[in-house]
Amino acid sequence: MAMKLTIIGTGGMVPTKKTNPSAFLLEAGGKRILLDCGYGAMRRMAELGIDLQSIDAVCVTHFHGDHAGEAFGLINVRLVDDQHRTFARNGSLQRLRHKHLVMIGPKTLERRFEAWRKIFWLEPNEQYPVAWREGIGTSKIGPISITTFPVAHVPYFDSVGFIITHQGKRLVYTGDIGSSHPFADLVDKLKGVDLLMIEGSWVKHRSPNHFSMAQVEELAQAANVKTVLVVHTNPENRKTVKRYLCGKKQFLFAELGMKVTV
Ligand SMILES: [Zn+2]
Ligand SMILES: [Zn+2]
Repeated sequence: MAMKLTIIGTGGMVPTKKTNPSAFLLEAGGKRILLDCGYGAMRRMAELGIDLQSIDAVCVTHFHGDHAGEAFGLINVRLVDDQHRTFARNGSLQRLRHKHLVMIGPKTLERRFEAWRKIFWLEPNEQYPVAWREGIGTSKIGPISITTFPVAHVPYFDSVGFIITHQGKRLVYTGDIGSSHPFADLVDKLKGVDLLMIEGSWVKHRSPNHFSMAQVEELAQAANVKTVLVVHTNPENRKTVKRYLCGKKQFLFAELGMKVTV
């Protein structure tokens, strides 16, 4: 079966009626994987009818709030939801069972969750059923393979991208990517991929922290990418980015709720 992607959030940092910070649901081989979980992701998932308990793994590209802002909250909400459902069923918490969640992301992921707990959920005896996979490596979620690679974005923490393969199909999600990322390295990693999810924040503006659409286009051609899904477009730039992409068959512009099959 193919990989199915649902757009939960595709804007930049600021939520609007038509956009939400980054979050994408990938479904394949009976597994559900969340790619980024930015501000507002849980609300949007509820609106789309996606049960938070059905998620098997969360892949976090980096520690900006528009990508990771609700990743730790999701762990917490699932735990409390389990408690409530168990108590409603049994009148006690005696047979409480948590579903295992795999968290994949850059180094310091678990340490940041421990810091998050100190602010938002201090209950010290609760054991969170989480498997942490930090840094560069490959994880298997059922039949899906997820490989992380370093991405240049900002100098304050590590960022990673994800190469996801399933039944011979390949999807790459870069997250936010800066112009300082070595171009040849990306071309090498993206050769012939079926779907590239990459940010289109601006059309021409070159920022050290973000790619322009012109750079994305150059990259997609050099790496012979089959389809590019343009995500993370700031609300005020949606019209210009869409206009830029008009008639370009290799490109899709991500909209809330949209589904893409790989
Ligand atoms: Zn960022
Ligand atoms: Zn961002």
